[in-house]
Order: sequence, then C-alpha cells, then structure tokens
Amino acid sequence: MTVKVRFAPSPTGYLHIGSARTALFHYLFARHQGGQFVLRIEDTDRERSRPEYEEDIFAGLDWLGMRGDEPAVYQNSRREVHLKYIDKLLSEGRAYKDPQGSPAVFFRVPAEGGTVIRDLVKGDIHFQNKDFKDQVMRKSDGSVTYNFAVVVDDAEMGITHIIRGEDHISNTPKQIFLYEALGFPLPQFAHIPMILGADRAKLSKRHGAASVNEYRRAGYLPEALLNYLSLLGWTPADGTELMTLNELCQKFDLDRVSKSNAIFDLEKLRWLNCQKIKHLTTDELYNNYTEYCQNVSLDILNVIKDDLVLLGDIAGKSTVFSVDRLEYTAEQKTEINTETAHLVFREIIAKLNNIYSGTIIEQYANAQVLIDETIKITGLKKAQVFHPLRIALTAQNSGPGLKFLLVLLGKDKVKERLQNALGG
Ligand code: GLU
Repeated sequence: MTVKVRFAPSPTGYLHIGSARTALFHYLFARHQGGQFVLRIEDTDRERSRPEYEEDIFAGLDWLGMRGDEPAVYQNSRREVHLKYIDKLLSEGRAYKDPQGSPAVFFRVPAEGGTVIRDLVKGDIHFQNKDFKDQVMRKSDGSVTYNFAVVVDDAEMGITHIIRGEDHISNTPKQIFLYEALGFPLPQFAHIPMILGADRAKLSKRHGAASVNEYRRAGYLPEALLNYLSLLGWTPADGTELMTLNELCQKFDLDRVSKSNAIFDLEKLRWLNCQKIKHLTTDELYNNYTEYCQNVSLDILNVIKDDLVLLGDIAGKSTVFSVDRLEYTAEQKTEINTETAHLVFREIIAKLNNIYSGTIIEQYANAQVLIDETIKITGLKKAQVFHPLRIALTAQNSGPGLKFLLVLLGKDKVKERLQNALGG
C-alpha cells in the first residue's frame, strides 16, 4: 500500500499556525513513508470561503516549502459526484429525504452496536451507535455537509491516512458509518493533539500572532517555523530539537506523536530562529533576505549575525555603525567621564592609524593588537578598557567585539566618537 495523505483546509480564514502544523505532519508522514501529499481545498461553504484566504494558504505552504504532489482538488467542484453517492444511498434505502419536502437528505445511522476508531495516536476509541442521530448529508439549502463530502472525496482520492486535529474525533464515527454504507475501504485515522496557549486555552488570535504570514512578516525563517511546528505534539526518538526539513522527514512518524495537548512556546520559537540564522552563511542571509539587509554591509552582517533573533533585528543592530551622533545616557556619561577612560580614549586615538591597512581580517588583528597594547601601556584592568570603550563607541552595554567595532566603524567615526566622549 502506498501512503497518500491530504491536507484539507477550508479557505475561510488565513493559514493558521495550527493548520500549518497539521499540514506539516501530513507532509512529513508522506515523505517518511515514501508516499504522496496532496491538497484539497474544502470550499463548499460558499459564504465564508474567500479567494484571499485560499491565496494565503497556498502562499504560506509555499513559503514553508510544502508543495502538493498533485494539483489541488477543489471540493466544491465535486458536487455532482457527492450528489451521485447521495442518490446511491437513497436508492438503497440507507438514506431518506426530508419529509418536509426540502432538498435535505438524511443518512440512517445504524441503531445498534458500536463503532471503534482505531486511532494511530490515541489508540482505540469506542462509541455506541445509539448515541448518534440520523445524519444530514445534504442540507435544506441543497449544499452537501462536511462529513459526507469528506468521506466521498477521501475515498475517491485514495487517501490512506486521515490526519487531523483531535477536535474532529466526534466526526470520525459519523464518517466511519458512511465508509461502511458506501462500501469504501476504511482509511487509518490519526488525531493529533491541539495547540494551546500558555494559559491552556486553544491557541487563537488572543495569544498574539496566529497566522503563518504574521510570523513571516515578523522576521521568522521558514525553516525555524517548520522546525518549531514539528515539535508541537511530536518528539523524535533521539530527543533532538534542532532539525532541518530533511531530517524531520527522516525522523517523523505518527507513533511518536503525543496524546496530550501541546503548549505554544514563543521563546522556543525565537531560540530556534536564532539558531537557524546562525546556521546560514552570511552570504545566504544577505542574498535570501535582501529586504532586511538594505543598509548593511556583508562585513557588518557577519559580525551581528549570531546575535539576531529575528531578521528584523538586522536594522536595529546595525544602526550603531551608521548613526551620526550617539546619545549617551546620564549613567553612560559618568562611565566614560573618568580619568582612566580618558586615558584609554587618548591612547586609542593616538594609534588609530595602525588599524586600517590590509584585508579586513588583518585589520581585525591590528585592532586586537591595539587593544592589547592599550591594556599593557595603561596598566589598567581589561574591564577598565573594554567597558568605557564600548560605551563611547556604541552607547550600548553589549554588542559585537571591540575589534570589530573599531574596524567596521572606520577611522573617522571612531575618532569622532572618542573625541566626543573626551569632550563630554
Ligand atoms: N476542512 C476541514 C478542516 O479544515 C478538514 C478536516 C479533515 O481533515 O477532515 O477542519
């Protein structure tokens, strides 16, 4: 049996982080099993379905790197097929028309016995058939219900595994009745845990960014979001957290999907994003994310890269190199206005010329020599040299190494800032 799975979003909203996680589990499962991953747009709700939502879903999946292996199926275009199967059940006496005369059609649910979902994640889930009312297959407005359309489409598309959120568990027995009545082979089911916010409520807008596009715009890398989503309800056997899409495909299986709900942890996503940025070469970062690198040179990017959490941090972390005049806080002014700090500044200014010759690597080395000599000549402790120098050059308490600052600021800016610090 070749595995075939479908991600079946309804285009009634933007691609939500939870839907993206569902899509990812489908994708990873299919790749791991050497199977197929396809998309079905469940657009039967004509009132709420909108083209911009559909576009957003495709754009989001594309950005995350998940393409369907076949052209997407549009559920609404399959209406004739759905109606054909409704007629079949009517002619077999398994369904009946609305006695009031509306177009509604109901499925006769078996009155006795039980139904079991043999769930690949949750284990067996038992239901009593008597607890189910006869099911609407076609509504009084003529439209076909989700539970009916989904069974016909999944069966005709040859879907082998139905993966979806556990909020669908109550639909599954209703769908199993229909598989049996229509004589379709039963697929396997896997109901995956929900994603909750830190307050244990189902993840929603209230918890902040909820759509994939919002994370994209906030400066997350697709590989970070994918990696993070994979860990929402799943852990690999070896416990690794940082994985590429290829590694995820190799490691993912449904048997390690958790039965309990996952909690969305923004700090972990930020950490993963930081790691993924570090793993890019400076050239990759510069070339793949040009819009974030407008006013920054490759050398500067190289020096700030490891401190970035979001792509949007590039602008903030690089302004120190370009800003015309620094504003020191009152506290910083006191820190740079000491005799020992002034001694350091004068020493550096006097020997600045030693730095700026040769390749950039040689210049960094020259700058390091100058810093080391300054420590020796002044007889001060390292911190007494480093700290005021950093404040004077950046008006910040932390940032890139001093040798990088001295080189990348360039002679004129270093001189100007140190003279300014001496004067103030
Ligand atoms: N369109 C349904 C949803 O978005 C699909 C559920 C399913 O996978 O069967 O919830």
